[in-house]
Amino acid sequence: MPLKIYNTLKKREEEFTPIEEGKVKMYTCGPTVYNYAHIGNLRTYIFEDVLKRTLKYNGYEVNHVMNITDVGHLQSDADTGEDKMELGAKRENKSIIDIARYYEDEFLKDLKKLNIIIANKIPRATEHVKEMIDLIKKLEERGYTYIANGNVYFSIDKFPEYNKLANLSMEDLIAGSRVDVDSFKRNPLDFVLWFVNSKYENHILQWESPWGVGFPGWHVECSAMAIKYLGEYMDIHCGGIDHIPVHHTNEIAQSEGALGHKWVNYWMHGEFLVLDRGKMSKSSGSFITLNTLIENNIDPLVYRYYVLQSKYRKPLLFSYERLEESKKSLSSLKQKINTVISEVEGLEIYKEDKINKYKEEFKSFINDDLNMANGFTVLHEVLKDYELNNLEKKALIEDFDEIFGLNLAEEIKNEVGLNEKEILRIEELIKEREEARKMKNFARSDEIRDLLLNEKIELLDTREGTKWKIKL
Ligand code: AMP
Ligand code: ZN
Repeated sequence: MPLKIYNTLKKREEEFTPIEEGKVKMYTCGPTVYNYAHIGNLRTYIFEDVLKRTLKYNGYEVNHVMNITDVGHLQSDADTGEDKMELGAKRENKSIIDIARYYEDEFLKDLKKLNIIIANKIPRATEHVKEMIDLIKKLEERGYTYIANGNVYFSIDKFPEYNKLANLSMEDLIAGSRVDVDSFKRNPLDFVLWFVNSKYENHILQWESPWGVGFPGWHVECSAMAIKYLGEYMDIHCGGIDHIPVHHTNEIAQSEGALGHKWVNYWMHGEFLVLDRGKMSKSSGSFITLNTLIENNIDPLVYRYYVLQSKYRKPLLFSYERLEESKKSLSSLKQKINTVISEVEGLEIYKEDKINKYKEEFKSFINDDLNMANGFTVLHEVLKDYELNNLEKKALIEDFDEIFGLNLAEEIKNEVGLNEKEILRIEELIKEREEARKMKNFARSDEIRDLLLNEKIELLDTREGTKWKIKL
């Protein structure tokens, strides 16, 4: 059952074949760290995580690079408006570096809470300006650039395959990129590689360059960092669908222009998380963060589960009602699993064949362009299968959770972090202590109290009987 993925470049599902046997070079566009990530952004990172886990599940060693954009991303992806980092710094009256590091940190914390496996390398744009300048120099040598009003532009007319990823009419491409007229552009879809003249005064982050003091355009950072850390040929490049017509199209043009050959074999894109009143975006004010969910008593893994219920290539409608349904459904799934995993003592694995059959079935679904919904169906079948013993079921749950990343095989703990078995043991010791006291065996009753106290469990003798609490 080969791994099949939808390649935006070919507009169809394709069997995945890596450049180097057993290895995958993967690049995902990271966040612009001028604000918290919203849960729409996080949907894209969850999709990319599931893709990475699926590649690993198929035995590939994945080298994953994700950038941090801390300069050059203007309000519109197509080079207009103010630099988002400068906007963030003004909004909070802080330095750009403070803003960038704070939101980078918060973003990485979000990923951790969502059980997203962190990339092998997370380079920051501001630390790779030299690589960007080198790439622009190469493009200049190869005749892809022109200078107008002091800025360096990429001339898309020099790259006939410009439209190969988006495959849209020029009118649609122009409409999609929301280009506001820059009279210096020879073609409205040309884009800036290096800004010397920002429309906004006192742009803080600036570097020396052969074209004058200035700052890089946003698109060039991904090409420069991806080539630096993954080489001239890459297997998979991902992002959200909004990146198809502008950012990724421009990345291809400048990378393939500079390298002189095809750059990435598979382009994959996640659909948007949408609200019934439109798309979720930072600028529209419809901005829900992971912390907003936590404040509303929604565990981050409930959100992960919610995202996994839908196909990554379909828009996902967000609502708190649907999230509450997911919360209930995950809780009931975990209850069922808890019963299985808490009763495995003395069992052995006998039915290897059956286990392998389930694993194959599961793999055939996730390998079908990440069909998670069918993956969950297999999990439910396993839980219902009376021929499997609990240890065999547990082995399968653990195996499937390598993809789901939902901590399914962890025992449910109560608010104070104890599992059912531990609570049962405390209750039995309390009963034994009550018996001992009735028999006036105070030595034993004190012994039990001290034993529990040693484990930070305090006993309180009340009129309604003995209660216990965790001693803080
Ligand atoms: P940004 O920080 O704006 O560069 O976006 C980070 C990632 O989130 C990119 O891959 C975007 O394509 C993706 N993205 C932006 N908005 C949404 C959304 N509403 N739903 C899903 N992904 C999104
Ligand atoms: Zn990018």
